[in-house]
Amino acid sequence: MLRLPCTGEVLVYLPPDLEDLPQRCVNYIVAHEFAHVALGHHGPEFEYSWAPSAQYHDEKPEEQAADALVVEWGYLASDNPVHIDRATREREKEEEDARLRREVEEQDRLVEKQLQRFRAVKVER
Ligand SMILES: [Zn+2]
Repeated sequence: MLRLPCTGEVLVYLPPDLEDLPQRCVNYIVAHEFAHVALGHHGPEFEYSWAPSAQYHDEKPEEQAADALVVEWGYLASDNPVHIDRATREREKEEEDARLRREVEEQDRLVEKQLQRFRAVKVER
C-alpha cells in the first residue's frame, strides 16, 4: 500500500499470488487491505508485504487493527489465510477450480444447444 505523493491517492497492490487462494481468502485479503486504507495505514512509516505468515501477522498491531475492522465489517476471521494451513488452502482452491470448470463446461453445452436450435430454425425458413 502506498500513498502517491503527487495526488495523495492511496494505491492498494494486490499480488498475483491471490489467484492461488480460495475465493473466501481473496475476499478477506481485499477487505483487509481496504481496512488498512480506512485506518490510515499508508505512507512510508508502514511497510507491508504480502506474507502469509501467522508470526508476521500477529506481531504487528496495525495488522491486528485491520483484522478487527474486517471482522466488524462482517468478514469471518476464519477466512484469514494466515491462519489456514497451506494444504487446506490448496485443496479448497483445487475444489473451487474444478467446480468452476464444470460450470463453464455446462454453460458451453447450453450455448451449443441454443446454437443448434438457432441453426435448425434458420434452415426451416
Ligand atoms: Zn495487513
